[in-house]
Amino acid sequence: MAQTAQPAGRSSGKPGRDCSRCPRLVDFRNTWRGREPQWFNAPVASFGPIDASLLIVGLAPGLRGANRTGRPFTGDYAGDLLYATLLQFGLARGSYRADPQDGLELIDCRITNAVRCVPPENKPTPQEINTCRDFLVATIKEMPRLRAVVALGRIAHDTVVVASGGRRSEFPFGHGKRHALGALTLVDSYHCSRYNTNTGVLTPQMFHAAIGEARNAAQGAGAVTPRAQAVTRTT
Ligand code: SF4
Repeated sequence: MAQTAQPAGRSSGKPGRDCSRCPRLVDFRNTWRGREPQWFNAPVASFGPIDASLLIVGLAPGLRGANRTGRPFTGDYAGDLLYATLLQFGLARGSYRADPQDGLELIDCRITNAVRCVPPENKPTPQEINTCRDFLVATIKEMPRLRAVVALGRIAHDTVVVASGGRRSEFPFGHGKRHALGALTLVDSYHCSRYNTNTGVLTPQMFHAAIGEARNAAQGAGAVTPRAQAVTRTT
């Protein structure tokens, strides 16, 4: 399915802590290692079981979120909606407290990012997205039961399409759209960022629908039935 070459010298979807493939991001990372030595400040690994049937792909670590804590979507606003939704759908167990030590477990679900290092202003360049795609390809390949992917935003969508051997022109992004990418089902959602939720571009209901659609595609389940209707922020 995936056509892109594996990362040079690696066979896993986990870049090394000092991955040097994107000079601009290395400089940014080193700047923050100096400013905030207690922060994670490294490529953020995927979170969740490797044998999950569902993969959620975000854009990149947030500076004070995953780049600080070392776990995807942990510590910034986007994680509040994402993890609350996963808990409601039974895709996570425990409680989310914006801390990698909170004991939260993902169930049949894994989370990763299109770009593993924090980019300045949350904007990776096209070259950085292309470069880090090798790790996304490896991540997809290393998941033996993967059946569905949720792409959070257009950049994540595009890189998942390419990582899966598809052509972007044949699979345009659209919130709530479902695409057949070979053996994989790709479901699109607007990114669950503070900006998108504050402006009403993405409502909790819209996000629930997208995650529920993907969960059904991954698990072959019937009706979408979140455990609770209301989204409760935990931080
Ligand atoms: S963004 Fe990806 S490829 Fe680039 S330096 Fe970080 S881990 Fe390496």
